[in-house]
Amino acid sequence: MSTLLIKGGTVVSTTGRVEADVLVDGEHVVALIAPGTEPFGPVTADTTIDATGKFVLPGGVDAHTHMEMPFGGTNASDTFETGTRAAAWGGTTTIIDFAVQYAGQSVMEQYALWHEKAGGNCAIDYGFHQILSDVQDESLVAMDELVHEGVTSFKLFMAYKGVLLSDDGQILRAFQKGAENGALMMMHAENGAVIDVLVQQALAENHTTPYYHGISRPWQAEEEATHRAIMIADIAGAPLYVVHVSAKQAVEQIAAARDRGSNVFGETCPQYLYLSLEEQLAAVSEQWGDLEGAKWVCSTPLRSRHEGHQHHLWQSLRTNDIQMVSTDHCPFCMKEQKEMGRGDFSKIPNGIGSVEHRMDLMYQGVVTGQITLERFVELTSTTPARMFGLYGRKGVIAPGADADIVIYDPAGHTSIGMGKTHHMNMDYSAWEGFEIDGHVDIVLSRGTVIVDERGYVGRAGHGQYVKRGLSQYLI
Ligand SMILES: [Zn+2]
Ligand SMILES: [Zn+2]
Repeated sequence: MSTLLIKGGTVVSTTGRVEADVLVDGEHVVALIAPGTEPFGPVTADTTIDATGKFVLPGGVDAHTHMEMPFGGTNASDTFETGTRAAAWGGTTTIIDFAVQYAGQSVMEQYALWHEKAGGNCAIDYGFHQILSDVQDESLVAMDELVHEGVTSFKLFMAYKGVLLSDDGQILRAFQKGAENGALMMMHAENGAVIDVLVQQALAENHTTPYYHGISRPWQAEEEATHRAIMIADIAGAPLYVVHVSAKQAVEQIAAARDRGSNVFGETCPQYLYLSLEEQLAAVSEQWGDLEGAKWVCSTPLRSRHEGHQHHLWQSLRTNDIQMVSTDHCPFCMKEQKEMGRGDFSKIPNGIGSVEHRMDLMYQGVVTGQITLERFVELTSTTPARMFGLYGRKGVIAPGADADIVIYDPAGHTSIGMGKTHHMNMDYSAWEGFEIDGHVDIVLSRGTVIVDERGYVGRAGHGQYVKRGLSQYLI
């Protein structure tokens, strides 16, 4: 096994930072050594990386991605190969993607299909959550099988009738199974029936532009569904993780449940922290006219800046009312994909591509004083690993952990946009023009350098499937 020494950097964890050299043997971290000390004689390594003046961070864990997911008659434009490569560029070394069972399909067949899509193609390690739609007896049996496969979390939907939706009774049954087998239940919390009516009414009034995607999915639909999901989880005694929280009122529901001592958790995404209904969904451009806003059509939607959601979400990241930040990476090109929704916003495939930029965008929150450096590590790596049963291997730089490491330069700079930093398989960047006061210099995945000054030097198939344990974050 070859050894590698990362010298002179500042190793950051959730609780602080320490000047230490990191010794890697093969795929694992084996020691953190105080600089200038030789506790067991001189430390030698086959390769040495100078990290002087840099942060040495545990690799990012993005717990919410949708590589090549079929949606609205097309597929998310990143394959596992292109999407995980882009993730690597941005300092993310593990993704947890969603295997999807749509209504009427077999859960286990779909799960096998996702292994086929990902196997041999990933640049970084990957795990799966399983999406369950229209929960039936067979789904409940599959939940037990999947927990043994290392799929220890299941996502249900309160919206998208006939495609993904489960009704409240079906949700209860799945939650009861989760309470029994220890799985973490994840919820897309929006009141789908209400939204379907609002969408039809908007279209009937000839309100067809992307802006009305946001208008027809109001925060009340998110707050109500979040509350309902929390109550059903309470009845079942199951832990609950609410995905892509965008409304401050939904945050308040999660915070209230946590104050009662419930195992309720929330995730938000960079788009809800930075982007808005007015600036993005209502945007007009020369190239796309009022279809421009389609670039940012995702669900839950971007919300009105004036309603104060962004301020509240950043605050919730400091207070731990919201525990982590994932991307909900689900990219579509404008050409031939988002374009399908010209003249009818409800036909725009839902999703934004961010897997490449999450670490940088959240690091900018450190620069601007929204969160501390330690909290940044917690939100982007350590808590995702703990939440989804990966901690120890992922989410920390400690002896025995996988050597998934990012060397981050706080004196560097990253300009996000097409032709600058853009490795996702999309024909636009949802983050065009964002400037980051930091830079991902070197990325290691299980001890192998996959990004350095030469660029991406990894390979498809290096990434391995990771079997996850049960959540390590429960109260
Ligand atoms: Zn969702
Ligand atoms: Zn999603």
